[in-house]
Amino acid sequence: MKIYNTLTRKKEEFVPIEEGKVRMYVCGPTVYNLIHIGNARPMIVFDTVRRYFEYRGYEVNYVSNFTDVDDKIIKAANEENVDAAEIASRYIEECKKDMEALNVKPATTHPLATKEIGGMIDMIDTLIKKGYAYDADGTVYYKTREFKDYGKLSKKNIDDLEAGHRDIKVDGEESKKDPLDFVLWKPKKENEPYWESPWSNGRPGWHIECSVMAKKYLGDTIDIHAGGEDLIFPHHENEIAQSEAANGCEFAKYWMHNGFLNINNKKMSKSEGNFFTVRDISKKYDLQVLRFFMLSASYRSPINFSEELVLAAKNGLDRILTAIDNINRFMENAVDAALSETEKENINKLNELKEKFNEAMDDDFNTADAQSAIFEMVKLANVSADNNSSKEYLATLKEVIVTLLDVLGITAEKEEEILDEQIEKLIEERTLARKEKNFKRADEIRDELLEKGIILKDTREGVIWKRV
Ligand SMILES: [Zn+2]
Repeated sequence: MKIYNTLTRKKEEFVPIEEGKVRMYVCGPTVYNLIHIGNARPMIVFDTVRRYFEYRGYEVNYVSNFTDVDDKIIKAANEENVDAAEIASRYIEECKKDMEALNVKPATTHPLATKEIGGMIDMIDTLIKKGYAYDADGTVYYKTREFKDYGKLSKKNIDDLEAGHRDIKVDGEESKKDPLDFVLWKPKKENEPYWESPWSNGRPGWHIECSVMAKKYLGDTIDIHAGGEDLIFPHHENEIAQSEAANGCEFAKYWMHNGFLNINNKKMSKSEGNFFTVRDISKKYDLQVLRFFMLSASYRSPINFSEELVLAAKNGLDRILTAIDNINRFMENAVDAALSETEKENINKLNELKEKFNEAMDDDFNTADAQSAIFEMVKLANVSADNNSSKEYLATLKEVIVTLLDVLGITAEKEEEILDEQIEKLIEERTLARKEKNFKRADEIRDELLEKGIILKDTREGVIWKRV
């Protein structure tokens, strides 16, 4: 298995620290609002990485934090006049709902920054003792120049960084000795949540959280550290500086970063009016569609979100799910016959395609090519499976396709089950609306179903429906 390592800018063979095991840390969201589709990309991408490792027989210890204390959370809390903790716990719950709908597996551990303050104080203390940090009137700074490898991940030269920083003075940071130094601990301001520490009543900087949580749950050296590419600098660079200085060993063997998500070729922003939460998208599509869309491009490339491309992903996914539906239908009446010669040949083809899927995923998780392999399997199924197929052939087809879809986090039969119920419920509602002469609502429901490819037919016996 090859992984593109941001640290070396090369694809490298994956060699785990401990055989058969993967220790993986993914930076999680700051919880002050519903997550947007840009937040969803790393969740989907790295969940797929995890699923592929598991499919290949690895045991994955997957840790992803929630940053539950931060300026934005405090601001949101002040606006609503509630506790920061209330904002954080509300949006952690909402985030978990979105993750579930995206088929993102819960992490082995989802640590919360506010529950790990003790570990952060310990690591900051170690950094001070080792000469990598200093206390200036209650604020603790990391001495960036003291860490000789600073810039190794982002390939930034420390002197260039210094030139860029020279004129920037931040309020409250006058006591900083070098403009490049960054905050490990800061004193509280009025109305802010705080914790006691040897330096001041205050709270940790953002970077130290991840260093501490990775150490606690995964150890001093981990296999994979992942996140969005916007985190390479300064966040991940600072994590390396903290962890390697404090622990005295390499922090992470492989650094993986996903590319940006654009909307109609523009950066997503609230002011541009092209800002979508995952919840917004869920009103229009099953979130599996969003997931399938996100995996239709290389995780390292930028991905462009547009109505057209999402619809294309939806149609592709529907094609796959319909093929599985058909196989299920054929299976109901299939005979227990031995595999025919043609079926044996087709199973060989199926296995070749499975190999193609594996090769794509082995090559730095090329989900786009992995999807293509599944599409070819669907094509094979569509031309070869019918009422005369043997049960064994149909079962093999289905098993392979469903297993590989699961690696991509797509549940083959979920939509079908939910949708049937939803359709029946909507038809009931429509019948009732018609009885009450609410024809507007009745028509709305008919249109809504039509949009989902469901055609209704009113008969004397009642409403019958079919998919198109
Ligand atoms: Zn982080």
